[in-house]
Amino acid sequence: MTAVVYKDVYTRDELRDLGSKALASALDGALTVDVTQQDDAWGAVVHGPCPRCHHTFSAEYALTALVQDELDGHRRRGVTPNRMQVPVDITCVCKDDHPGHPKDVGGCGASFRVTRRVPIS
Ligand SMILES: [Zn+2]
Ligand SMILES: [Zn+2]
Repeated sequence: MTAVVYKDVYTRDELRDLGSKALASALDGALTVDVTQQDDAWGAVVHGPCPRCHHTFSAEYALTALVQDELDGHRRRGVTPNRMQVPVDITCVCKDDHPGHPKDVGGCGASFRVTRRVPIS
């Protein structure tokens, strides 16, 4: 098996491809992307296989700024949504040693976005 070389610059087509593989994996239930809310703090907990190197990893992301921005935008237009699309930008942080990765940076370098629809209370 050839090692997947670290790579963090992608063409639009490659990004689209990673995104659609990630989405398929999320629909399958292999990749879980859970958006969490505690009072005004939003985050995402991600677990599953990377669509590029296929290694399983877990990661958490803070989404508060992004979600608050969206909500503020809606409120300025006088709308209070009860559901919202939240884009979660995920970076592979698998523990494998991909050749060429920068010092102190793990994963294979892949980034992809999975959008989640979440209820707003
Ligand atoms: Zn990997
Ligand atoms: Zn990866």
